[in-house]
Amino acid sequence: MEKERKLIIAGNWKMNKTVAEALDLVADIKRDLREVKEVDIVVCPPFTALSEVSKAILNTNLRLGAQNMNENNFGAYTGEIAAGMLKEFSVRFVILGHSERRQYQKETDELIAKKALAVHTASLKPIVCVGETLTEREAGKTEKVLQTQVRGSLSTLSKGQMEETILAYEPVWAIGTGKTATTNQAQEAHLFIRRLLLDMFGETVARRVRIQYGGSVKPSNARDLMSQPDVDGALVGGASLEARSFADIIKNSI
Ligand code: PEP
Repeated sequence: MEKERKLIIAGNWKMNKTVAEALDLVADIKRDLREVKEVDIVVCPPFTALSEVSKAILNTNLRLGAQNMNENNFGAYTGEIAAGMLKEFSVRFVILGHSERRQYQKETDELIAKKALAVHTASLKPIVCVGETLTEREAGKTEKVLQTQVRGSLSTLSKGQMEETILAYEPVWAIGTGKTATTNQAQEAHLFIRRLLLDMFGETVARRVRIQYGGSVKPSNARDLMSQPDVDGALVGGASLEARSFADIIKNSI
């Protein structure tokens, strides 16, 4: 299958940055990446900084993402955030099912599927994360895990919604560890995921869905990873917390 997809690179700031720090970071990113048109660039600050970052990136080439969303529209869900609240800040993307949420908040594929549908219903785009742990990889279960997560997390979506969904393959053993999947490991997993999409949603959807790689992406490995035929961008954690490294990842990917 030929690569015909625009790269999408997102920075997941996780539980980092006060509003003041977020504004400093986004000002630098904005300046460093002003000329970039070849890549969809997304920043995902914590909820508390969405409002100010949203204003700071108005009329720029940066887009705003959130790190999570509740599947309900409103109600008695203490501590949760609904789609309508994100839309007030012009959020366009929502990260769902990050391995940290799967691990610490015990999020299941079933819940992620409900959230993915809610994200689409609000005309936002989910970035749905999947990936195996080290134990699973070493036990030869990578494909089985990916199959379960992809089928389970996307089960609620129509073909049209799937086409507008971004997937992120994030081997858990590579997140925040400094260990990156080799280009072969990444390509193999991405191709496997794309074949699952082919089976579930048909060829047009499988060809169009963008699959990001995530797991210790840095300026030095971005080019090789992005040159793989089925790698269509990156979800970046640690290296997105500094403008220079985030900008260099993007520039090296073009
Ligand atoms: C992530 O948390 O999505 C991630 C990929 O983190 P890091 O880049 O720090 O490995």
